[in-house]
Amino acid sequence: MGISTIANAALIVVDFQNDFCPGGTLAVPHGDEILPAIQDLIDQFTQSGRPVAMTQDFHPPHHVSFQEQGGPWPPHCVQGTVGCDLHPDLKVPMTAAHFYKGFSDRIDAYSGFEGRLADQQQGITDTDLESWLRGQAADTVYIVGLATDYCVRATALDALARSFDTRVISNAVRGVNVSWGDSDRALAELKKAGARVEPWIPTA
Ligand SMILES: [Zn+2]
Repeated sequence: MGISTIANAALIVVDFQNDFCPGGTLAVPHGDEILPAIQDLIDQFTQSGRPVAMTQDFHPPHHVSFQEQGGPWPPHCVQGTVGCDLHPDLKVPMTAAHFYKGFSDRIDAYSGFEGRLADQQQGITDTDLESWLRGQAADTVYIVGLATDYCVRATALDALARSFDTRVISNAVRGVNVSWGDSDRALAELKKAGARVEPWIPTA
């Protein structure tokens, strides 16, 4: 896939946050290796005037998804911590929109479509990802980020359910693989549901 295909597209970068990268509290193995592909996509979309959305886990300190609360995960992406920040080497344009999810104590969210647009002060607005995408005249979404078998999967399934032409960029996602093969199963499921799963060929 190349630049000619992104005319009606938006880029969705899922949860490329410190806690999901090596060294974080819920690290995806080799999660940071997808940074160059993600950066190239961000740059290409931005230079083409196409929209970029960053989704981010944005949890309160005692979130329902944490093991201390009976949830499946160690604490991660707690609001105001470094772990919640996007990877520091990623150059995110000022024009990018940030969608926060899982910001209420008792509600978890894997899909970016459950998130809400953040304002400049990290305040949470009423705007959701679908209405924002429609406002950007995007009928196609390119989905990249972490983790293939959780938030990428959920975001892509929701995009398909909302009739977006959905492309999951195979060399710009990585999975947790709690059970061996989870990521491959997720990608197969997404293909079956109608997504295109293809690599991005970076521009020279
Ligand atoms: Zn989370």
